[in-house]
Amino acid sequence: MLNTKLESILLKEFGKDILKDFPMAQYTSFKCGGKAKYLIFPRNIEEVIKIFEIIENFNEDFLILGKGTNVLISDDGFNGIVISTLKMKNFILKGEEIECECGLKISELLKICIENSLSGIEFLSGIPGTIGGAIRNNAGLKEKWISERINYVESLNIKTLKIIKRRREEIFFDYRKSDFKKDEFILKTELFLQKEKKDKIKEMIKKYLKERVEKQPLGYSAGSIFKNPYPFYAGELIEKCGLKGYSIGDCFISSKHANFIINKGRGRAKDVYELIKLIKEKVKEKFNIELETEIELIGDFK
Ligand SMILES: Cc1cc2nc3c(=O)[nH]c(=O)nc-3n(C[C@H](O)[C@H](O)[C@H](O)COP(=O)(O)OP(=O)(O)OC[C@H]3O[C@@H](n4cnc5c(N)ncnc54)[C@H](O)[C@@H]3O)c2cc1C
Repeated sequence: MLNTKLESILLKEFGKDILKDFPMAQYTSFKCGGKAKYLIFPRNIEEVIKIFEIIENFNEDFLILGKGTNVLISDDGFNGIVISTLKMKNFILKGEEIECECGLKISELLKICIENSLSGIEFLSGIPGTIGGAIRNNAGLKEKWISERINYVESLNIKTLKIIKRRREEIFFDYRKSDFKKDEFILKTELFLQKEKKDKIKEMIKKYLKERVEKQPLGYSAGSIFKNPYPFYAGELIEKCGLKGYSIGDCFISSKHANFIINKGRGRAKDVYELIKLIKEKVKEKFNIELETEIELIGDFK
């Protein structure tokens, strides 16, 4: 049931930057998931604060979404306000440092780096998300993470609506983990880079992309489904359970890399969820290891 007062306020404040009852499949890399009550695209910090004031007044549930490449949204959708960061993508070059807003895509940032002969984050090539999502998950490769390049992060505490600026040393980062919780909106970050020849940067990016193409499958996915349970690799454990190629509905476990689930196009979030459950059961049974999802499950999956 839509709240008409809430709706009229949202429309008044955000006009064209709001979508109502919108299929989230269009905003996630898995290309599945139901509708969000509202999807809003703030353009700046002031608008983000405004949204959280409204959320507080109307006691609405909310979800912060970057490029939607590390989430699985339920087929029942999200009964609240989804705040997309995709229109917050300003950046400022400061010599060998760059300050960028959360919604800037990694691919866009890498392009800026090439244009300005700045090196240091080539290892992020091929990661399809935004800077905000990358910081929240400490995205990267096995032993190279975005956190290594951070000078500071500015975030909004959603409860107090205060902006906090923390230097890298004050933030906890680990493998696919940071201490940014659900009540913090990452606004911007400053990364430190170093000067390098454009050709060398391009060459490194090419190398990382080549490695990715060799190892990872194409298709609608959210990248690795599970974190690697040190010292093992989730993909290897899944493969040893004989699950490569196994399918449910229109989704299947990749034969190229067993830690990837691919939606052929018409798959539902439920199909992905059932595959996740099956993998967890089989790996637990065979190896007594509890796999932990790297992707975030949003909404109802019962
Ligand atoms: C083909 C493919 C390959 C991938 N390869 C890799 C890889 O090699 N390494 C890797 O680490 N990841 C990888 N990923 C996963 C994913 O791309 C990254 O985790 C990415 O950084 C997520 O960014 P996003 O903008 O899509 O985040 P989303 O999926 O939109 O969000 C992820 C989480 O971050 C939160 N979030 C997003 N923005 C903000 C913000 N501004 N403030 C607070 N919270 C926020 C969301 O609420 C959610 O909890 C891959 C994904 C795909 C599809």
